[in-house]
Amino acid sequence: MYNIFLSGLAVSDQAQTVASQTSALRQAAQSAAAARTDVSEMRDQVERLAMLTQAMWELVAERLHLTETDLEQKAQEVDLRDGKADGKMSSHPLRCPQCGRVSNSRHKKCLYCGLLFEGSVFG
Ligand SMILES: [Zn+2]
Repeated sequence: MYNIFLSGLAVSDQAQTVASQTSALRQAAQSAAAARTDVSEMRDQVERLAMLTQAMWELVAERLHLTETDLEQKAQEVDLRDGKADGKMSSHPLRCPQCGRVSNSRHKKCLYCGLLFEGSVFG
């Protein structure tokens, strides 16, 4: 009789564990679905931005008689502003060696005094 009582308690514990695991799985599935939706929305936004960038580039290239080489050179210059040729525009606070105020490394020159940021300033 006592053994039957104990095995009943064990079954009850197992049922609680299964219920708790089922709940955790349900939450994980909901999180995964939300993440898929976020990724899908971001992909749509990136595709729209890429299309708008292409349209802007073609408009500017036509109006100003620019070439793909001009675009590539400018892209390399912008890429190197953070000191790394990695295809990304990471940014960091940058203290101007001339006026001492802080600008963002994405900018080509100091927002306050106009000093051009280049070379070792990013090192
Ligand atoms: Zn400055």
